Amino acid sequence: LSAFREHARADMLASTTPPSRVSPPQIAQGLRIYGELLRTLRALRAIEPGAQADRLERHVAGVYAAGMRTIALRAGGNVRVRDDGFATAVRGLDAETQRAAVRQERVAEDASRRADAFILGSLGAGLALLLLLGMQLARVRRRAGVVEAEQRSERRVGALVEHSTDVVAVIAPGDGTIRWQAPSIRRMLGRSADDVVGRPLAELAHPDDAAAVRRASDRVIAPKCSHAFRLRHADGGWRHVEAVAADRCDDPAVEGIVLSMRDVSQRKALEDRLRHQAFHDNLTGLANRALFEDRLGHALARARRDGPPAAVLFLDLDDFKTINDSLGHGVGDQVLRTVAERVAGALRAVDTAARLGGDEFAILLHDVGDAAGAREVAGRLQAALAAPLELDGRTLTFGASIGVALADGRTGVEEVLRNADVAMYSAKAHGKRGVAVFEEEMHLRVLERLELSSELRNAVAAGQLEVDYQPIVDLGAGRVAGVEALVRWNHPTRGRLGPVQFIGLAEETGTIVGLGLHVLRVACAEVHAINEERVGPAPLHVSVNVSTKQLQDPAFPAAVAAVLAETGLPAEQLVLELTETLLVDDREEIMGQLERLKALGLRLAVDDFGTGYSVLSYLQQFPVDLLKIDKSFIDDLHRRPEKAKLVAGIVNLGASLNLQVVAEGIEEVAQAAELRAMRSPYGQGYLYSRPVGASALRALLAAQPELGSLADAA
Ligand code: C2E
Ligand code: MG
Ligand code: MG
Repeated sequence: LSAFREHARADMLASTTPPSRVSPPQIAQGLRIYGELLRTLRALRAIEPGAQADRLERHVAGVYAAGMRTIALRAGGNVRVRDDGFATAVRGLDAETQRAAVRQERVAEDASRRADAFILGSLGAGLALLLLLGMQLARVRRRAGVVEAEQRSERRVGALVEHSTDVVAVIAPGDGTIRWQAPSIRRMLGRSADDVVGRPLAELAHPDDAAAVRRASDRVIAPKCSHAFRLRHADGGWRHVEAVAADRCDDPAVEGIVLSMRDVSQRKALEDRLRHQAFHDNLTGLANRALFEDRLGHALARARRDGPPAAVLFLDLDDFKTINDSLGHGVGDQVLRTVAERVAGALRAVDTAARLGGDEFAILLHDVGDAAGAREVAGRLQAALAAPLELDGRTLTFGASIGVALADGRTGVEEVLRNADVAMYSAKAHGKRGVAVFEEEMHLRVLERLELSSELRNAVAAGQLEVDYQPIVDLGAGRVAGVEALVRWNHPTRGRLGPVQFIGLAEETGTIVGLGLHVLRVACAEVHAINEERVGPAPLHVSVNVSTKQLQDPAFPAAVAAVLAETGLPAEQLVLELTETLLVDDREEIMGQLERLKALGLRLAVDDFGTGYSVLSYLQQFPVDLLKIDKSFIDDLHRRPEKAKLVAGIVNLGASLNLQVVAEGIEEVAQAAELRAMRSPYGQGYLYSRPVGASALRALLAAQPELGSLADAA
């Protein structure tokens, strides 16, 4: 504190007396130590926080402001200006400093009295004397050099005003006419001081900021707050300006409001960028969750005030993970950007589209009226997304599932979003590319699914999974050539569940990897045991379904090899069934996985052939051995000749590519007859047998060795 006081007294007070003759160099000198004062103050505050320090800082700030004003006025040529404000401020500061010092000394004295009054007291007196002498000495020295210093400082002050980051102007109260202007305006607006003096500030300001300029020209309001407005640069652009004002109207030499302006355009631009970043998705440029929730909140508030209900669409891409994982993130990003463009393009300007993360999008529709209106928009979005996307010479198609939730005044932001999400989930569960409108009981179903997925995690360990086998029949020879392993879940409360009820869940949660390996192990072991028991007929092959997630696991080929070794099933008796969608990808990873599997000696089949969008040409590139024609082609094969032609085409294609063909879902004798006529080698379906357990399969094989011909005879 004494250091602070010394600064204030010795450097500032001494050089500013007498108060009527404050000169700019003296003030400049004062301002130079302003920073030092503040630093000292901060240190003081760290030792003793409180009102005292606050008061001191206020005084220091007052000195600074007054000093700046005086400098500005004088630098503008008003050398005659007598600014008592500065001297007054300095005196105020000094008084406050003394008060602080006295208090501080009292505290110190109290303490020292209690220690050793005599010694410390005399020491204190000696110190005070020394201090006083030092101060006087400093004053004398300063007086001597004052004339020379004054000239030097005049130049320095001129430079200070010119290079100060603040641009000072004096404007007339009321109409805001610029009375005086610091030349540094050129740096800010590309205009000379002469150019602007005499013009109202409002003339330079952005029309939308007229009110702000009016406030800055108001004697009562101006000094109380800071002001922000835009001023036009000579180049035609706008500059964001922040200003603080001081009312000097009563000073006869000034008679105006002193505006200290600062160009904050760069900061503003940065802020705008940051704000945009904070509320938008980087990848797509759409709104992000925060902005979306904000807008939704406003829409709900309007709806509450009897406005029209809004609607939220929750959109989730189908199979995006497959695209991302197999074609790479670059392609994935491109797809997301395309979706964003298409969605935004299909909406009105008032609606808001947002990316909530991953492949999830949300859309806020204003004034849709009812669910039918929202459903219509969802349909439009589906249509917009359906167009194929050409990317690096590859044609990609993708779709989305959309959930719709209406938002009236009774629902909250989170609830509406959750409802739309639940509806989307339900749309997805009913097959891809669907639209579903939220209903209360959907919640229940979602909960059920969540419960199921957690139960599924323990199902393997709990021994609840079983494998059924469906015979695959050699249509020509009429005998069972192999079996397809199909998993079943003996759920403790829900009974026996088929794969459609849980495989999707297992894929979503990743449980499929362990589950699939378990099925593979069981199937290989059981079929191998059956083959060992049977003497005579050729051994059965076993087909096991493999999901994309499993195939993408780098450890998969080694795991398959281990299962073969462990169960003893010869590799050539194993077929792995892959879905067609997997093969849209020609990337090396999948290709490598397939080749590693092939190297084990097993065979690969394309399952559900014809339902995906895979391209025939891929069949040549991938090392596959079998095609399984989807049931939908077989269904009315015997009733519709054009269907029969299509299937015959696939059979021929298989033959020419050296692939064996299996027809799935044969239920009627007529279908089997047609297929045999086409020379389709294999068939599978309820006509021959439903999927059955291992022991039933044994019985079936023993009773009906010639399954195919028996069925034909039926
Ligand atoms: P998929 O591989 O196409 O299996 C054939 C499905 O068609 C089986 O249904 C089978 O019971 C049924 N099916 C066979 N013949 C007929 C018929 O004549 N008429 C009718 N209406 N249906 C017939 P399932 O067992 O419900 O399996 C459904 C799907 O679940 C399978 O389709 C397969 O994609 C998947 N899946 C089954 N087990 C597994 C598994 O262990 N792992 C994986 N990843 N997926 C599996
Ligand atoms: Mg299959
Ligand atoms: Mg199939």
